[in-house]
Amino acid sequence: MRIITGLARILIVLLSACLSRECAADGPRQRSILVLEEADFRSPFYSEIFDGIRAVAKQNGNIDTVIYGESLDLPRFPGPDYEESLVDHLKTKYARRPIDVVVSIGVASAKFLQKRKQDIWPAALVVYGLVPDLPEVRAVFLPNTTAVFSRVKPTHLLTAARAVVPNLTRVVLVGSAWSNPLVYGHWKQDFAAAMPGLEVTDLSGTVLREVRKQVANLPEGSAILTSAMYSDGEGTYYSPAAALTRIAESTNRPIIITSDTLLGKAGVGGFLLLPDIIGREAGAVAMRILDGEAPASIPPFNGNNVKPIFDWRELKRWNVDESNLPAGSEVRFRVPSFWEQYYWHTMIVTGVLLTQALMITILLRERRLRFLAEVEARQRMSELAHMNRRATAGEMSASIAHELSQPLAAILLNAETAGQMLQDSAPDLGEISDMLEHIRRDDQRASEVIGRLRTFLKRDPTERREIDLNATVDEVFRFLSVQALTHDVGLTTEPSSAGIRVKADRVQLQQVILNLVVNGMDAVAHLPADRRRVVGRTSLAEGNHAVVSIADSGDGILAEKVTEIFKPFFTTKAQGMGIGLSIARTIVEAHGGRIWAENAPSGGAVFHVSLPLVASG
Ligand code: ADP
Repeated sequence: MRIITGLARILIVLLSACLSRECAADGPRQRSILVLEEADFRSPFYSEIFDGIRAVAKQNGNIDTVIYGESLDLPRFPGPDYEESLVDHLKTKYARRPIDVVVSIGVASAKFLQKRKQDIWPAALVVYGLVPDLPEVRAVFLPNTTAVFSRVKPTHLLTAARAVVPNLTRVVLVGSAWSNPLVYGHWKQDFAAAMPGLEVTDLSGTVLREVRKQVANLPEGSAILTSAMYSDGEGTYYSPAAALTRIAESTNRPIIITSDTLLGKAGVGGFLLLPDIIGREAGAVAMRILDGEAPASIPPFNGNNVKPIFDWRELKRWNVDESNLPAGSEVRFRVPSFWEQYYWHTMIVTGVLLTQALMITILLRERRLRFLAEVEARQRMSELAHMNRRATAGEMSASIAHELSQPLAAILLNAETAGQMLQDSAPDLGEISDMLEHIRRDDQRASEVIGRLRTFLKRDPTERREIDLNATVDEVFRFLSVQALTHDVGLTTEPSSAGIRVKADRVQLQQVILNLVVNGMDAVAHLPADRRRVVGRTSLAEGNHAVVSIADSGDGILAEKVTEIFKPFFTTKAQGMGIGLSIARTIVEAHGGRIWAENAPSGGAVFHVSLPLVASG
């Protein structure tokens, strides 16, 4: 039972859908508009009007509206014969196509309808567009019609001309509309009222050839006011844009135009008719009539379809100050300045450059700060090193005194002996001369000891030279020999058989070796005298390196401390400062070398210093 009811329901729905479709087919016929244009609607101006009407009809498109278009093309085909044949043609054409609303565009088509509508579209209602609000124009309107006015007043053209030519004294009128009172009305009176002394040259009926000649050499304070021109007056027909271009080619003065579609082709601009808006406004009224309003109930009104618009390039050409233009003017074809055109590119590039500059500044600053920090660190290190050397020198003062006392005692002895010998009646001058030679040599030895000490203690800036590594090591060992003797430590060197040359600061390198040897001597101090040994070796290693190794016979280093001992202030000694090895490491690394410690298999610690060799050749 349920299934049957369901099926019945579906059937009813399908039937009603079917019926409603049939209903639509039999329903009110398609609505129709005929756009009757006075000129060719393939021209840009009239085609924009047609498109405007079509756009409005589409927007209101609940009900299908068909739009027909007819061009009377009267400016190019004047004369009664053509008009007669046109009426016959249209009558035949629309005999079976009823037209609801005729949208009449232009004064010429209004006049055509006045005479011929009854013959061709008797039942159609009419809305007029592109007509000026002049009594003469209203007079041609049929009864029960309405209109949307559009008008570029003659004074509008004057205003535009004065904006472009501030010292305007003369205007030259070009184009056929000037002679048509249904378009520009009584412009002579209008001009006289607006600018009493204005000189007017009316070339509206003149052939194009003549017009070109006449506008070729116009005086300074003049401008050309145009209206549409279709014919050269000698049998050649143009589009208004082409005619205007020909005039523009030959004139020396600015041209004021009246249509949006001419801007950019020739002419500075002016109060321009906006065809798209004209079409939309007339189309909107046509739709109201189609929806049932009687045309007579819609009073004719002024459209908002004229606007002052100028071509930026032409303004530049004529040196026009934009502030002189009529209020509300629009300027087209503005060539953006480099800045406007590449605003974002420029901003991005500037941003990138600024960021880069900022980064570079920060990096340079960092580098400088680091450099300063390094200089400061080096300074501190040098001060510490100096302290360290003085401390070492202090410790060694006993042995230095000992080293000095030997030559000094010898000098004293020789001087005394020589003195006694001189008391003799016949002194042996040869012997005395030998003694004096000994005194001189002992003195030299004492000076050398002091000189070495002075060099060692001086606070010189780093001075790297190519030095002989074996000689440098040997010098340190000799320097410490007295101290070693005092503490009963056996100091020996085992120089490499080959000469080794490195580029280094001699004093700094000596300090490294000295610190290592002094540490070695400390490390063996507690051992019985016969087991106290420190050995210095030099050798060549792989990778163009020289190695100095200082080995001792002490207890070695705790395995876990082999790296820690190089840290500043690490010490295991009661009187230690813990800076000797840290200074040694800083100096070695500053020379591009490496220092490390290990325990020798036979016991004791070995410290190795590796330094890059001087590149041979
Ligand atoms: P300091 O000698 O004033 O302690 P160093 O920096 O010269 O400072 O040495 C740091 C520490 O390294 C020493 O206290 C010691 O513990 C250890 N050390 C240095 N040389 C040796 C060595 N030859 N044998 C064993 N330990 C050593």
